[in-house]
This record gives sequence, structure tokens and C-alpha cells, in this order.
Amino acid sequence: VSQRLYINAFLATMDQNSDPYGLVENGALAAVGGEITWCGRHDEVPDEYANFQSEDLGGRLITPGLVDCHSHIVFGGDRAREFEMRLEGASYEEVARAGGGIVSTVKATRLAEESDLLVGALARVDALISEGVTTIEIKSGYGLDLETELKMLRVARAVERSRPIRVKTSFLGAHAIPPEFSGQPDEYIDEVCIPALRAAHQAALVDAVDGFCENIAFTLVQIERVFKVAKDLGLPVKLHAEQLSSLGGASLAARYDALSADHLEYLDEAGVMDMKNAATIAVILPGAYYTLRETRAPPVELFRKHQVPMAVATDGNPGSSPMFSVLLAMNMASTLFGLTPAEALAGVTTNAAKALGIVDIGILSAGMRADLAIWNVGHPAELAYRIGFNSLHKRVFGGV
Ligand SMILES: [Zn+2]
Repeated sequence: VSQRLYINAFLATMDQNSDPYGLVENGALAAVGGEITWCGRHDEVPDEYANFQSEDLGGRLITPGLVDCHSHIVFGGDRAREFEMRLEGASYEEVARAGGGIVSTVKATRLAEESDLLVGALARVDALISEGVTTIEIKSGYGLDLETELKMLRVARAVERSRPIRVKTSFLGAHAIPPEFSGQPDEYIDEVCIPALRAAHQAALVDAVDGFCENIAFTLVQIERVFKVAKDLGLPVKLHAEQLSSLGGASLAARYDALSADHLEYLDEAGVMDMKNAATIAVILPGAYYTLRETRAPPVELFRKHQVPMAVATDGNPGSSPMFSVLLAMNMASTLFGLTPAEALAGVTTNAAKALGIVDIGILSAGMRADLAIWNVGHPAELAYRIGFNSLHKRVFGGV
């Protein structure tokens, strides 16, 4: 078992008893195997760590390993041509007629070999790893048939076997209505989505169940049918809610004790309070807001007022958020939505872990997993401050 002591470190423990970053200057952190066994001030390191192999970090910052708690990183094809067409002046209708939109991603994902989906996903995962990400959530939702939904989730599991990263999967069969069920969302939910969920759960491919509650996707009633099955199977739920309109999705999610409700631009105060009462995390996704050039920001002030923890994620996907940088998501959450840099960092550590229901990461303290990001910065505010700059020095996953 490896025994390591990091010394001369500046710790942002995110243990928020004192200041929002839980800062410790002149700090040290000890790890045995994959677990943090001690962290605190260097001059208080217990004697038992005296003969540990030590690494002098020269004052560098240690944060918990970053967590991307909302991604659609497994998909076929890309939507660059559609992006180009729109910027050349094509209307949404013209883009759709040319085979663009989510349908094009569904088509490409259905056609793709599992191995090709994995290669594509790993390139994006590697970008996240290079900036200190140690845990990522990956959703299905571009198959919209039983076979492809399971294929996407198998690829997500394969990501975890292929790289030093922890993966949590979310079944997102209720993402969109596939062309063959056009105008028949109820039939799609009953005949495809729910059977696919049961089959994916049977194959141990599902850690949580997600949906998209919106006028262009599924109604509260349809989402609730999926949530009921999730509860029967003992799976936690989360929901894309209040992104483009206020339908009550976050409150429905809260009634089902959701881990998180995500997007939330149109959420009202009653919905915020429902989330508070259910301890549901608010996942802020500035990438989609930016890409779609939305103008309504999520109700950050209300989340603060009612102490609903905010997480921040990439929403990495080929259409509305082709962003595969957690650092950029932090910067956008601060600049576009007014999160403080400390809130942005909590959003990709402590609160992102909560949004995934994981209890042993997100904070630097004894007993937590030794998932660390070590940065060439003098202060943690620098992480959200820079635009498109990666100051990672080193990443530690499970002590390695
Ligand atoms: Zn999403």
C-alpha cells in the first residue's frame, strides 16, 4: 500500500466551516492507498507520518479532484456542419430539413459501433482528465431505442475501465421523442423508454434515472411514469427541468427526492423551496445557455437565499453545449450567472459529488478518497477567473 505525504501545500479543502474554500496555508495531506488519512497544517502533521514518502508541492494549491456531474459525452457524429449552417444564415427549419438537430445525433449514435463510440468519448474524457476531473457522470439518451440506450451505457461503463476515472451513469431514455414515435410520446414512454430502463437496470448499467421535462420533450405526467419505475427499481432520479419554460419539473423531481434538478433558468421561488426541502442539488449549466444565446439566467439569488447547494457542469453534448472543459464551465458560471469563484469551485467538487449521490469525494478530509487536483496557482479564485487556460500541475486518482 502506497503511503504519501504532500507537504508545502496550499489546501482548498472545501470543508466550509471557516471560509468558503476551507483554506489551509502551509498545509500537508497524507494518503494511504486510495484514502486521505490526514490533512491540515504542516506543523501539525502527526509523528506517524514522519517516514512517509513526501512530496514538496512548493506552495501549490490542492483541491478535491473535479467532478463533472452532468454530461452527454457518449454520442455518434458531431453537429459542426449544423453550427456552420446556422451561422451562414440557415433557419432552424432548414437545419432540420438537412437532417440536423438531435435526430442527426440519434441516427449517428444508432449506426456507430460500440468501439467507435468509446474512442470518441475517450478523446473528450481525456480533455477533462487533463484538467483534474476525477469523476464524471455520463447519460444515455441518443439511442431512444432499447438496443442503443444499452449500447451507450455499456460505453459509459467502458470509459471507467479504460481510464483512471470514476463514472456514474444516468439512463436518459426520456430525452427526446424519436422520429418513429413522432406525435406518440406516451407510446414511446411505455413501449420503449420503460422497457429499456428495466433492461438496462437488469444489466447493472444504471446508477440514476434522468429525463427532459419540457414542451419540446416530455410532460410532467410522462416523466412521473418513468420516475415511478425508477423508484420501484430503487434508483435515484434527476431531471432536466425549467430550462426553456416553467412546467413544475423541479418540484416533481423534489417529490421523488431527486439527487438534482438541472438547468433551472425558469425556476420560481416555490420550486426552489421544494428543492430545498428535498435536499435536491441545483445543477447550473452555463454551456447550453451560452450556446443557445439564452437571456434568462437561473435564480442564483434564490438558491442562496434558500440555501440550495449549486453544482456546475459542462452538459457536454454535440448540440446545445459542445463544451468539454469544467474550468470553462466554472468561468461561465461566474461571468454569466454571477457565481462567486468559491461557489463555482464548490459546484465542481462538494456539490457535484452530492448531485451524484457520492459521499466519499468532494472534500479534502480524513476518510475521503484521495482524488486530488494540484494546481500551479496562488489562490483558488484563479480557477474560475481564467478563460480557456488550464493550470493543472498534477492529478491524483485514488492515491495514484
Ligand atoms: Zn443535459
